[in-house]
Amino acid sequence: MKKNSTKPNTRHLELIDRTLLWHPFTQMKEYIKMPPLIIEEGRGSYLKDIYGRWYLDGVSSLWVNVHGHRKREINEAIIQQVRRISHSTLLGISNVPAVKLAEELVGIAPRGLIKVFYSDNGSTAVEVALKMAFQFWKQTSRKNKKRKFISLKNGYHGDTIGSVSVGGIDLFHGIYRPLLFPTFKVDSPYCYRCPLHRVYPSCRVECLNLLEETMKRHHSQVAAFILEPIVQGAGGMIVFPKGYLKEARFLCNKYRILMIADEVATGFGRTGKMFACDHERVSPDLMALSKGITGGYLPLAATLTTNEIYQAFLGEVQDQKTFYHGHSYTGNPLACQAALASLDLFQEEKVLEALQSKIQFLKKELKKFYSFPNVGNIRQKGMMVGIELVKDREKKTPFPLKDRIGHRVILEARKRGVIIRPLGDVIVLMPPLSITEQELKKLSQVISESIDAVLSSPRHWQRISST
Ligand code: PMP
Repeated sequence: MKKNSTKPNTRHLELIDRTLLWHPFTQMKEYIKMPPLIIEEGRGSYLKDIYGRWYLDGVSSLWVNVHGHRKREINEAIIQQVRRISHSTLLGISNVPAVKLAEELVGIAPRGLIKVFYSDNGSTAVEVALKMAFQFWKQTSRKNKKRKFISLKNGYHGDTIGSVSVGGIDLFHGIYRPLLFPTFKVDSPYCYRCPLHRVYPSCRVECLNLLEETMKRHHSQVAAFILEPIVQGAGGMIVFPKGYLKEARFLCNKYRILMIADEVATGFGRTGKMFACDHERVSPDLMALSKGITGGYLPLAATLTTNEIYQAFLGEVQDQKTFYHGHSYTGNPLACQAALASLDLFQEEKVLEALQSKIQFLKKELKKFYSFPNVGNIRQKGMMVGIELVKDREKKTPFPLKDRIGHRVILEARKRGVIIRPLGDVIVLMPPLSITEQELKKLSQVISESIDAVLSSPRHWQRISST
């Protein structure tokens, strides 16, 4: 038997994990102090580690899983495709699943998005959108001054240099500033910490004025405005006030600025509709998709755009209008076939219809969290949830970073059989759409016990008072 197919020795796996692996978004000095959690198997909403312990997957394996793990239909679709071919390029030739999926995506996308450009992760889907917007204006406007981007503070669009440039989270992005291209950053509509100190709905979404001022002043230089529609995910599950997205679309039209909707996190049912843009019937000029596109099984991304943008790239080869972008695994047939199976499941299992009552159930569960003195704000859109923990609820004072409250809460949850991952002190819940009400109940129960364990323990308050 080959070395890699024998049952691994758990201690050896742990040793190698701690000594050879460098984990993303992870302070390795801290990581190696604890036994690693190594996943071996999954089923439905659960993950199993190498010791046979099962955990509820409270964040859909980083916001990707849709129909649960080891879903028969997706597994079979991938296996069938492996029997035909696992990969062939999309540069200049095509493959069957990529073609079929393009048709499906155009069928469900907001109106006007009729061209599909594949890549393989959320960051590259955003890079593609940024480059397309830039090149569109270069090839259509005679003055050719529209080269910059407007983006939102607290925005997150991935980790490649272009997507970091339009990102707005200092903790992640600050260090790379010397490498980034400058963008115009506008305060995001973060109602809990309103940049204008107003209260919704009496504010009438006055923060849109901040966006309009920037557009008015700089529109001649601006190629596109990029945003995560309705929910800023990694910024802390910040849910936009109603109407912000629609009005932003209107402003983009008014100032001749393209709109890029980054639906990498929000897409494929996460907010309760297929796309977040659907809540306000908005059609962006470019839309970035990834994460849930394959049901969370394989890496794939797509940037959808309009015929108008596509047309601007047509010409003779010597005109140099070609879009010079493409990855080795662009339009990978296995991933596209998984995506087709996932979209079939949306229809066959009426996923979005079934989701509505779960969203309401979750909403009720979440109300209970306000009884905790340190829960400052609870934000929910569909199955995307952020529970913001604060040191002082009245003053909305955050905990000091070094207290690592969010991190300690997730470790408590792990002890109780739930895997979640915080964003600072925002506890995030983003379970698979297939989660049952019973599992949702368990999720909320464990999280409340975990918050309690961290914030009600005398040890915690000793630590706080000594700082
Ligand atoms: N855009 C958004 C809105 C995201 O949430 C993420 C990842 N969390 C990305 C882009 C980047 O996706 P990836 O990690 O697949 O590159």
